[in-house]
Amino acid sequence: MAASRMKLELSRVVQGNTRLGLLKEMGRMGQHSLDIPGCLLYTHLGTVPHLTQDTLHTLSSLPAVTQVTLSNMAEHQDVLEEFKGGFKKFAGLHDTVLYCSLHDPAAQCPTGHTTNKTVSVWGSGGRIELTVAKFMALQKTAQPDWYQSMADGETWQASASRKRVRKSVDRTLAHLDECLMVHQKSQELDGVGVFGVVEGGDILEERLRSARETAKRPVAGFCLDGFQTGAMDQVLRSQLISAVTKELPEDKPRLLQGVGRPDEVLACVEAGVDLFEGFFPFQATERGCALCFSFDITPDPESAAPDEEQRTAGETQPNRDLNCVDQTHMTSFEMNLKDKRYQDDFRPLVEGCGCYCCRNHQRAYVHHLLVTNELLAGVLLMIHNTSHYHGFFRAIRAALASDKMDLLRRRVLGNGKK
Ligand SMILES: [Zn+2]
Repeated sequence: MAASRMKLELSRVVQGNTRLGLLKEMGRMGQHSLDIPGCLLYTHLGTVPHLTQDTLHTLSSLPAVTQVTLSNMAEHQDVLEEFKGGFKKFAGLHDTVLYCSLHDPAAQCPTGHTTNKTVSVWGSGGRIELTVAKFMALQKTAQPDWYQSMADGETWQASASRKRVRKSVDRTLAHLDECLMVHQKSQELDGVGVFGVVEGGDILEERLRSARETAKRPVAGFCLDGFQTGAMDQVLRSQLISAVTKELPEDKPRLLQGVGRPDEVLACVEAGVDLFEGFFPFQATERGCALCFSFDITPDPESAAPDEEQRTAGETQPNRDLNCVDQTHMTSFEMNLKDKRYQDDFRPLVEGCGCYCCRNHQRAYVHHLLVTNELLAGVLLMIHNTSHYHGFFRAIRAALASDKMDLLRRRVLGNGKK
């Protein structure tokens, strides 16, 4: 079996951990590349929520990797098997690398359903229990370019005992070995990359064991699981991620699951994470919010001026909910356009933003669409939020390239004084 031919070229490593680079020769034909640190394109069954492919492609610099969730696909396995052409063709996704994750990072996943032989995913019709055989049959049908291996990730709650955490690491490694055994014999999965999952809850020894053992297997990259927002405070998360990433080979990407808030993204990039799931813009859109945090690190005072204006106008506020557990809760990186104060605010969502929404509409119009429940509200917000969030990742890479991470952090946290 041919292994995934993906290559990771690091152009810069800052303070031993933070990585700037390029993932090259991705996809089965090796024609795609992705800058790191970067984020994947979040979708529901291959579609960015609210956006058609035409609308989506009005956005510039979209990431080359699209994320789909296995729970979505498991429900449609019969149809996909009958179709035979793989999920990309089924969903009309032609020019992208397809990554299949186990769970949807924007959805709550009930716990208490993993066993030694199975994991469960939740679709719209309820729970679907997957054995290794069923999981691998799904991957063969879907034919992604990368997929996350089966994992027992139910140990992120602080109440998980050491024994339970150890069991989750053992199970996840056993699942990985079984998946790899089927994978390596499968012609359909020739050239497809498996991402091994690092578990271990909040116990350092188990995290290290999980990382070391997973790194011994022929995986294309690593998923860091159990660090999602609300699972632990940022200091502990950064310590554990730094320890884990030191155990992982330099030439393979590390994808962090379930973290999307800009302040957390920055801290995790500094701990050695390369890739993030891009669900945060969707969550903000569902709240009727527009991302408005500043990430401008250009020295030119003219181009930086809108940020100051925005801050003094009171739309961005200092972070005050860093330990907020509820991912559906509005964060201080966004403005709630349902708020009455926007009903006669005729400015764009973010001054200087080049997205379709900001070039053509004002806050007052989006406010009106939201209060009258017009579908266009979600479309316009998703255009802006996706554009803004991916712009933030471009700014992270620019800051890493020019030693401006401190400035970027101050900007993002709302204390950016010039
Ligand atoms: Zn915009």
